Amino acid sequence: PDEAPTAASAPAVRLTGVGKTFGDTPAVQDVTLDIRRNEFFSILGPSGCGKTTLMRMITGFEVPTEGTVELGGVNANGVPPHKRDLNMLFQSYALFPHLNVGENVAFELKVRRSRPKAEISKAVTEALALVRLEGYGERSIAQLSGGQRQRVAIARALIGRPSLLLLDEPLGALDQKLRAEMQLELKKIQREVGVTFVTVTHDQEEALTMSDRIAIMDGGRVLQVDSPEAIYERPATRFVADFIGTSNFLTGTLGGDRLGVESLGNLAVPRGHGLADGTGVHLAIRPENVRLTREEGEAAAGRVALPGTLQQIVYLGNATRYHLTLTDGSDFIAESRGADRSGLAMGEPVWATWDPARSRLLDQ
Ligand code: ATP
Repeated sequence: PDEAPTAASAPAVRLTGVGKTFGDTPAVQDVTLDIRRNEFFSILGPSGCGKTTLMRMITGFEVPTEGTVELGGVNANGVPPHKRDLNMLFQSYALFPHLNVGENVAFELKVRRSRPKAEISKAVTEALALVRLEGYGERSIAQLSGGQRQRVAIARALIGRPSLLLLDEPLGALDQKLRAEMQLELKKIQREVGVTFVTVTHDQEEALTMSDRIAIMDGGRVLQVDSPEAIYERPATRFVADFIGTSNFLTGTLGGDRLGVESLGNLAVPRGHGLADGTGVHLAIRPENVRLTREEGEAAAGRVALPGTLQQIVYLGNATRYHLTLTDGSDFIAESRGADRSGLAMGEPVWATWDPARSRLLDQ
């Protein structure tokens, strides 16, 4: 097709003010974001947050009630799904049991356009090599493991070399171990093939493992779009800090470099936060940044120290989690690597301490 001169540098997907309302239900509201070419992009959020609806607007199966969807720099509003340069892979990828592996992979090419036999067979060989199933073309589907079937489905989805592949909970049907393996595999395939991948998932670990960037959704809105590291280290909202990993929250009012928390006192916060005095904020502290001491004086200079009572020590294999109650009755969690070497006993009074630079202020 004739592409606009700008198309080569345009993002794979550009959403501008996109919204979708079903009757009275606003499923997606005011989403503006770019998905870059050749990136592995995930849409992550809890059930019902609007991920699937957002993806269906990219595919064209759902028409936005507001805003525009551009694909490769071209306005796609009004373009039906089969005319969009994209393909989809669902959790329930149905392979045809009466066709062998090669025929399954070739299926789409045969349906979409007639091509010379030799060309199709070459494309099938290439697609099978991509998913590390060389020589499996003649096998029957019944002879394959779950992971191998998944790979056949990926080869089938990529054989037509779409610019964009949308994956809806692609690994949802696999058991835990195979899932972890396929996460790395999918990422590797995506890099090799150079196709933009967009996946929809509610599994935070999956999104962190595979993605170049993640969009976090809640209540129909996109709250943050960032790299996995930035989302973990610099969450934009309390929801993000809570949804990705675990955070302790202390809520209060800012005054300079201090946060006034009712009945807990004035605590040091990260410097240079740029928020006005009197602003109501949450201070988020990751459990792995909290250290426990018996005495307040044992905490290194400059660390915040709050007294509490140790309630429970939970051994997690690679880490140990300490559940405390602070003096205002709220829960607080600390975590250390490996087994418990603290020498602390349940019920003992302790101090939870942290470096204020490793805490994060979130505007209420
Ligand atoms: P899940 O992870 O459970 O699939 P999701 O994040 O993909 O959830 P959506 O399926 O996009 O969420 O749904 C978002 C909201 O829109 C929900 O409240 C849902 O009930 C509503 N919704 C989705 N599709 C329709 C529809 N066709 N008609 C009416 N309401 C819908």
